[in-house]
Amino acid sequence: MNYQDEFRDRALVQGYAQRIARLVEGRTDVMTFMEVCGTHTMSIYQYGLRSLLPPQVRLISGPGCPVCVTPNEYLDRAVALCRLPGVIVATFGDMVRVPGSSSSLQEERAMGADVRIVYSPLDAVALAAANPDRKVVFLGVGFETTAPAIGGSILAARKQGLANYFVLAAHKTMPIPMRVLANDPELGIDGYLCPAHVSTIIGADAYRFLPEEFGIPCVVTGFEPVDVMQGVEMLVRQVVEGKPRVEIQYSRVATWEGNRKALDVLAQVFTPFDAPWRGIGIIPGSGLRIADAYAAFDAEREIAVEVEETKEHQGCLCGEILKGKVTPFDCPLFANACTPESPVGACMVSSEGTCAAAYKYGQ
Ligand code: SF4
Repeated sequence: MNYQDEFRDRALVQGYAQRIARLVEGRTDVMTFMEVCGTHTMSIYQYGLRSLLPPQVRLISGPGCPVCVTPNEYLDRAVALCRLPGVIVATFGDMVRVPGSSSSLQEERAMGADVRIVYSPLDAVALAAANPDRKVVFLGVGFETTAPAIGGSILAARKQGLANYFVLAAHKTMPIPMRVLANDPELGIDGYLCPAHVSTIIGADAYRFLPEEFGIPCVVTGFEPVDVMQGVEMLVRQVVEGKPRVEIQYSRVATWEGNRKALDVLAQVFTPFDAPWRGIGIIPGSGLRIADAYAAFDAEREIAVEVEETKEHQGCLCGEILKGKVTPFDCPLFANACTPESPVGACMVSSEGTCAAAYKYGQ
């Protein structure tokens, strides 16, 4: 398949592995690079890319899975909403199985709640139009990649004059947590593999503060194995040369300035707020909530509901995994008490979760 097969070429991948090995030959230090996109995490596990790298190059996973970084309190509110009479909760598939403090949307659905999986926020708008006597709440979870489409659904609902479409917004933005993690001396990040899809929206310029303020190299990198290995090689080269900067490996899609139209939708419909991240806590200005002008579509403001007291899952290390401090293999629950069929934490549920990737593909 064009634009896919050539980026999975074994010889090219091995060529990058050899170049990386040559670049670090004789060095005794270890370079730690973090990927902050769940799809990178999946690709690294799926193609066994860590095993191709020399011991001087270490890859760690960061908070790149939107479902995983969404804290239990959000899930608890979604569960409480779906229990209300006359409410339909619409969501992308991954969220249904994520356990909240004491229940999940899947469990609620089995007990009669109306929880629907949709493939686009506009499907949820159509659901609202088809059910004028009910309230449809779409779960707005995701980074800058998905937020414009969800903002667009609010604009579409307003255009259609719908008063029964709501979004429970928990959008997060990517560069700000990268600053938080860059400041963490325990992690010692030497470079970022910057997310591919997020960068197509926000543009590579958004990462300039990382080399300028922290001396951390950044490479906007695609998802296929050749992309990732080339991205790592570009990071290694920057470290070896001692010239940190932002580079774009994913040049077939990403640009420096991003997608102006999508950014305009974000600026119109959302406003920054201090968002809670699982494992990291509240990061000032790192989330997007619905702007006052669109408050009528905000499920949190418009639909009163009692939410249970949030509890964390005993023994789950998701929070530490999302900060890159431990791996799934450090979790005593991994692959015994916690499996994709019976997940304890969000990182085992999501198709972009580090624990799910480790379970599916192993070391
Ligand atoms: Fe949490 Fe399960 Fe991952 Fe352990 S293996 S950190 S319990 S999601």
